[in-house]
Amino acid sequence: MTDYRRDVNLQAHNTLAVPARARYFAEADDIPSVRAALEFARAQALPLLILGGGSNIVLGDDFPGLVLQVGLLGRELIAEDDHYYYLRVAAGENWVQLVDYCLQRGYWGLENLSLIPGSVGAAPIQNIGAYGVELCELFWELEAVAVDSGEQVRFDRQACEFGYRDSVFKGRLRDRYLITSVTLKLHREPQLNLSYPALREALADQPAEQLTPAQVSRAVCAIRRSKLPDPAVVPNVGSFFKNPLVTVEQYQSLQEDWPDLVAFPVDDRRVKLAAAWLIDRAGWRGYREGPVAVHHSQALVLTNEGHGSGAMVLALAAKIADSIWQKYRVQLEFEPRVYP
Ligand code: FAD
Ligand code: NAP
Repeated sequence: MTDYRRDVNLQAHNTLAVPARARYFAEADDIPSVRAALEFARAQALPLLILGGGSNIVLGDDFPGLVLQVGLLGRELIAEDDHYYYLRVAAGENWVQLVDYCLQRGYWGLENLSLIPGSVGAAPIQNIGAYGVELCELFWELEAVAVDSGEQVRFDRQACEFGYRDSVFKGRLRDRYLITSVTLKLHREPQLNLSYPALREALADQPAEQLTPAQVSRAVCAIRRSKLPDPAVVPNVGSFFKNPLVTVEQYQSLQEDWPDLVAFPVDDRRVKLAAAWLIDRAGWRGYREGPVAVHHSQALVLTNEGHGSGAMVLALAAKIADSIWQKYRVQLEFEPRVYP
């Protein structure tokens, strides 16, 4: 029987440590409990917040409905062929632990995605990515329960409509499905991706052909620890803004004013701007406003050391986005999902 607790403080459930409250809070650790909780919310017309590790949400206020923590656990090797292992992982598993588990067993491909906080079930939501690799490259399929009917549905890679830090679950199908498991297609032979300059530099003293996935993972972890605040110590949600995609024409015009603008080609028509560069050059790095601040070594990260409200964090984020618009005429989008 699921326990629906009332008026629960969510501070320990979001890595920004915002002390917002939930009207109801429940944890579901099997599919029948997931269905029962969805029915509980539906019957009372409660808004629903599906929660993993809380590392990509901003609670702008108390949540007036049910916060449902996904606690489904388990990993299963469901198939293998000459080239791949197919590993099904329950949504409530921790992503960092999954990467270690795969490294220990020789299921390769997740190395560059080491040390990304959060749950496995949230990984497809924004198609997590880092150091030149995105989840969609290792993704086979996911299973989900429809929020309105409780029906179980499978989504293959195409159906997820993955994009840059994006998927169908952030757009057209937002809030419509609770992901229960993700199946990954992992390599039997190492396929190292050293395309990211910072990673190549960190491993430069070793010939590329002698490198192992474990070394790549360790290098990724070391770079991340040197640049990013640990949310357990300094509350944050990682990058607060997405890197904006602009047209080639807009990029060329910006480059005339800002010759050292940091940007990367995406395709023939679009260029990705480094949001951190825009924010840094607008003078925000290290800026503090009461309990919230722009991190001193990574301008994309907003911190909440003083355990301020989500509204305070959002107010600072809005000021930054506005100043970027005024300075460069580039619209910054928030990466984390804002609730309620
Ligand atoms: P939550 O914050 O709990 O939820 C995020 C969204 O997903 C919410 O809308 C929620 O409703 C939805 N959701 C969660 N679980 C489910 C489910 N089972 N079914 C349906 N919807 C669900 N992200 C990157 O892409 N790359 C990085 O390198 C990276 N680095 C980070 C570093 C730090 C220090 C931090 C704090 C964050 C970083 N992030 C990064 C962001 C974050 O870790 C990822 O987005 C992660 O996948 C979020 O997982 P979560 O379980 O905490 O999701
Ligand atoms: P960085 O190395 O300082 O680079 C700054 C930005 O430039 C990154 O956002 C990255 O885009 C882009 N970039 C750098 N080299 C690139 C290349 N060769 N090709 C395409 N784009 C390139 O970045 P960082 O802040 O330390 O982060 C390192 C990696 O971890 C990045 O991939 C970043 O996305 C990821 N990360 C994500 C979060 C999050 O919350 N989403 C938090 C921390 C780190 P991309 O972001 O598109 O890679």
